[in-house]
Parts: sequence; structure tokens; C-alpha cells
Amino acid sequence: MPEMTTSSPVPRADDADSDRLKALLERAATGRDSQAWSDLWTELYHNGSLDVTHPLVLHTLADMAEADKAGVAASALHLAGALLVQADQRYETRYLRHQHAPEVARLLGAANRWRQNTADRNDYCYLVEAVLNLEGDIHWAEGLVWGVVSEEYELECPDPDGCASLWVMIGERGFFSAAEDYALSDDHVETFPLHPADPRAMEGLGRRLYDLALADGHEEVARALTYAFGEATCPECQQRFSVVGQVVASSS
Ligand SMILES: [Zn+2]
Repeated sequence: MPEMTTSSPVPRADDADSDRLKALLERAATGRDSQAWSDLWTELYHNGSLDVTHPLVLHTLADMAEADKAGVAASALHLAGALLVQADQRYETRYLRHQHAPEVARLLGAANRWRQNTADRNDYCYLVEAVLNLEGDIHWAEGLVWGVVSEEYELECPDPDGCASLWVMIGERGFFSAAEDYALSDDHVETFPLHPADPRAMEGLGRRLYDLALADGHEEVARALTYAFGEATCPECQQRFSVVGQVVASSS
């Protein structure tokens, strides 16, 4: 906020927005009001009718993340991470992150503590997403984690001439690519086995997330990550390609 606005008369609409924001955050913090969370996502993230740079937003979400309610903390971390990445993308600066560096540091510390103490597979994945979003080095953590949680990615083949969309399945239904959404199709779809990354040869972010999942006791997530950071075959042109490479391409 520029300093001059604090001494000028504040329009009524700003007052109303500030009151609404405060009320929504208070309701969300109780952990018994999912509508409040839904409204925060809509108004802060999806339509921006509430101001993400309002000093209450990241401060209150950090308070929730540091309190002892796991569900509220997870929701606060998920929203805060998404808001920061969206601001990075939308304004092409890291202004929001820099302006709220102490809150971001508190959120990241809380995300890493909850991550180490979360047994549920999907809750764990969303906490990893929050960690990555709060760190802010990549903008495609949501796409990466979405596939691990839902056990499938819908991707485009990297072929410049453009093949149809394809599905990469990683989970209970198997580990393969197919030209149709396997969940919605009959049993006669041609499938192509995936080529997971060799854990001993993984590097960079894949290596780090794999090691983290093992250290946190999530072997199944670690295994899924070898597929996310491995290769798939396009059912149409038979070209092998990096799964995570196409997750990045579809998130930009
Ligand atoms: Zn193709």
C-alpha cells in the first residue's frame, strides 16, 4: 500500500471489502465453515473481488497455519501458496512475496512442519504443493501434484504437429498412457507402458521430492513421482516424452 492512501479518506467500498475479508477469515479459522473457504477462493483467487495485497490476508493465513488445527492449517497453506503463485504470474513481479516476506517465511515453516506429520497421502501431496508454491521457484506445482493426487495426467503430446490429448495413468489402475480417458472408456483402449525415472539417477526437483516423500514415510508418493518425472509414449505418434515436461508446458 502506498503511504498516502492511509491519510486520505477511504471509500466506503474499501471499508465494506475489508469487513467482508475479516469476517470470512474469522469464519474460515473456526474450521467449521467450508463455505467461508470457498468464498475466500472465489473472491481472492478466482475473481479477485477481494484484494490479495490487503495486510490481513497472508498475516491471518500464517496465523492459521501456525495454530494447531491440521485441517485449517492445510486450507490456509493451500490458499496462501496459490495466491502467491498467481500474483507472481499475473504481475510478473514478486512484489506480493517481497512485501510479505515475514508472513511467507512463517507459512513455509508451518508447511514443512505439517508435511512431516501428515499421514494421509493426499493431504501430504497438497502440503508438498504448498511448500513449492511458498518457495516460489516453480509455477507448476499445482499441475504436478494434481496428477499425483488424481492418479492421472491429461496432457498434450509435444509433437509440433499436434496429436490429440492423451492420458497418463499412475496409480491403482496401472502405469501407462492411453489416447482416451481410461476411467471413462471400455476395456479395449490400447495402452503404452510408462518409463519411470530410475530413482538412483533422478536429479533436481524430482530427486528432492522423491527423497522428501521417502523421508516423510510416503513410499507410494515417492513411487508415483518416479512416473511423473519419467517418460510416457504418445499413443498417436509413438514418441516418448517427459511427463513433467508436458505438465510444465500445460501450466504456462
Ligand atoms: Zn504424439
